Amino acid sequence: MKAKLAKLSSFFVALSISHSAIAETFKFDTDVSEKSDTLVVFKNDTKPTGFTKFDKKSEGQLTRALSANKFDGSYNSFVEVLAPNKLSYNRVLIVGTGDKALTKPELTKLGGNIAAQLTGKHISDVSIAAKHFDTNQASLLAHGINLRSYNFDKYKKEKHQGKTYTFSVKDTSATLSAYAKLEHIQSGIFLARDLTNEAPTELTPVDFVTEAKKLKKLGVEIKVLKPKQIKKLGMNALEAVGRGSIDGSRLVVAHYEGSNDAPIAIAGKGITFDSGGIQIKTAEHIVRMKSDMAGAAAALGTIKALAAMDAKVNVVAVMGLAENMVSEKSFIPGDVLTTAEGLTVEITNTDAEGRLVLADSMWYVRENFEPSVLVDIATLTGGKYRALGTKLGGIFSEDEQLVKEFTYAGKSVNEPVWRLPLGYKEMLESPIADLRNTGKGGPSATTAATFLQQFVGETPWLHIDIAGNALAASPSGEVPVGGTGFGVRLLTEWILNHHEAK
Ligand SMILES: [Zn+2]
Repeated sequence: MKAKLAKLSSFFVALSISHSAIAETFKFDTDVSEKSDTLVVFKNDTKPTGFTKFDKKSEGQLTRALSANKFDGSYNSFVEVLAPNKLSYNRVLIVGTGDKALTKPELTKLGGNIAAQLTGKHISDVSIAAKHFDTNQASLLAHGINLRSYNFDKYKKEKHQGKTYTFSVKDTSATLSAYAKLEHIQSGIFLARDLTNEAPTELTPVDFVTEAKKLKKLGVEIKVLKPKQIKKLGMNALEAVGRGSIDGSRLVVAHYEGSNDAPIAIAGKGITFDSGGIQIKTAEHIVRMKSDMAGAAAALGTIKALAAMDAKVNVVAVMGLAENMVSEKSFIPGDVLTTAEGLTVEITNTDAEGRLVLADSMWYVRENFEPSVLVDIATLTGGKYRALGTKLGGIFSEDEQLVKEFTYAGKSVNEPVWRLPLGYKEMLESPIADLRNTGKGGPSATTAATFLQQFVGETPWLHIDIAGNALAASPSGEVPVGGTGFGVRLLTEWILNHHEAK
């Protein structure tokens, strides 16, 4: 057994190289180690679990602890027993799983909550008695634990101390390979979280380019356009938004060509800091604006996940990057910008800049890649946040099939989305240009989406507004505080399903 475990661990090390923020170690073994400082057991009245064995060993102490806590075994309930009788562990965490079979998102969330229960308690080595779970279930628990344990500690004096989790499972190699796929997705999520969490001065469009280029070693083709080239191609809207900053705008194309199919395109909004421009934001609203590039981060994270798992798909991400800053060179209200699509836009608000960078980015990817489908993802509007809050993403599309696919994918990976309407195009009418860049009050999430719709041509398209989803104020389930990486799981799941459905 020892030899096998060592072999598995070395496989792990090999897998982990490309990850940006992995601190936890996961192992899968056939037995529950007695050497760990912590034991996690599950209590389920309909299924025999490791609980019975350890309860017996402790001479019934675990059962007594459960009744002292009036533990009813429901999903997501916990009882912790310190210094358990006749057991070598410092603590035993008893986890309720309810009596129904747990779904994929429930397992991931439960893993996240287990990690939360074990945080800040001088724990370094955890054994998880997970033999009654099947291969996929055990790997999803590990996935949830790892997602919640992510910690952006770059600027903290005290660094995050990773733990080792050893799962006892029926089939070690099958669980390991199921987990390997999830680990690739995690690598994309962690990249998106890193980018979202990073301080805005440390993550300008130029720094984003540097991060994108790191995906070259996974076989991703990276192309970068600078302001001069952007302007030369007529992408004046993208160019204008970054004009007030030191380095100007960038367009980054990350192409992962894992098949010969027509590419799926993802356009991401990458405003690395949004001051609002000349129509500057208030002190309250400006403070979270390092996260206004979370759409681009999700797009790049998705490419990383797909490339890392060697998925047989053809996906191109195009990211419009700019810092929306205030200077004498900034674009100003009343300006009329000519997009590469040929439509002119009257600037009615310099803070509605995301749709400008997306308009040209979407044109670019249509023109150069002829995608079979185009999805854009953006922290776009306060209107979306007010309508759907921080838990749901907003989706907009006239393609019923795409709406169905995204709704399904979102549910199955704990990144739920809710459809909002397109429409109110008359609110975008301008006396001087083809469009205004804002509506006239009212449904701002819808008018922003309808603005984008003018730039998608005949390509089937779906818009995801993730305003409010990108930066969590408090942790929950598998999502830690700070950058969430929202969209990476959703997009990856959708792309893999969409591909299989064809
Ligand atoms: Zn803005």
